[in-house]
Amino acid sequence: MPAVTGPIERPRVGVVKLASCDGCQLTLLDLEDQLLDIAERYDLAQFPEATSRRWDGRFDVLFVEGSVSTPEHVEELRELRGRSDLLVTIGACATAGGIQALRNYLDQPTVAAAVYPEPAYVASLATATPVGDHVTVDLELRGCPISPSQILELLTALRVGRRPQLPAEAVCAACKRRGIACVLVAGGLPCLGPVTAAGCGALCPAFGRACYGCFGPVAGANVAALSERFAGLPSPPDDIGATFALFSNWAEPYRSTVAASPALANHPDAREPQTESEER
Ligand code: SF4
Ligand code: SF4
Repeated sequence: MPAVTGPIERPRVGVVKLASCDGCQLTLLDLEDQLLDIAERYDLAQFPEATSRRWDGRFDVLFVEGSVSTPEHVEELRELRGRSDLLVTIGACATAGGIQALRNYLDQPTVAAAVYPEPAYVASLATATPVGDHVTVDLELRGCPISPSQILELLTALRVGRRPQLPAEAVCAACKRRGIACVLVAGGLPCLGPVTAAGCGALCPAFGRACYGCFGPVAGANVAALSERFAGLPSPPDDIGATFALFSNWAEPYRSTVAASPALANHPDAREPQTESEER
């Protein structure tokens, strides 16, 4: 996050989408108790889920949802970055490539042929990549979808001119704070909580479910050690790499583990993200 420049009276806010399901925009729209206050205190200059209004001037903050999946996305993103003081990615698609990044491990024509009746009409890039691979990102809001409280915290911080207070710990810390029995140690489930960034309030473990990593890797995540722990579970996963192959699969260090999955790894056509010239 760049230096905070001071309070902004009525910040001009933009929301744009690339390849995404719109779920993160809906999280903003779902802030029903705060939405009228937000509309009064912030200039929502562009927000496709809520209005057809478009803005071609500068943004104080631009929220970007979705992964970069077409050549047009690259162009649009660069143009938007040029007129945004702060650019914030919202959600797993924008910060880590999202579920659509699973195709990065596979051969694009094969995937397109399996999904579309007329794959010749598909004009996407061979990879779906995070926004940060293409332009400078000032802040990431993680999750699939994002946390309502985190976006409120960011909007508040922007208006009063302070740094947003976002957690820098793993999901496990939220579990301990809530007194939730560990689904890994006590339940024997392959839970990604130890290597996943907090922010959801340990939502899945609270319901006895293993975390599947939608907030992406926490800083310093030791995925190799957790994978070894999974291998020692009473009922270990058949494919440990596949347990990391969900919404943040393309974020390191999840990516290296996913690439070792028999289902995806060593695929003859697995590819690295393309360089700019290859995208063309
Ligand atoms: S991060 Fe999840 S909720 Fe947000 S746009 Fe992507 S798929 Fe939808
Ligand atoms: S527990 Fe994990 S998968 Fe579930 S919402 Fe939280 S970060 Fe996402």
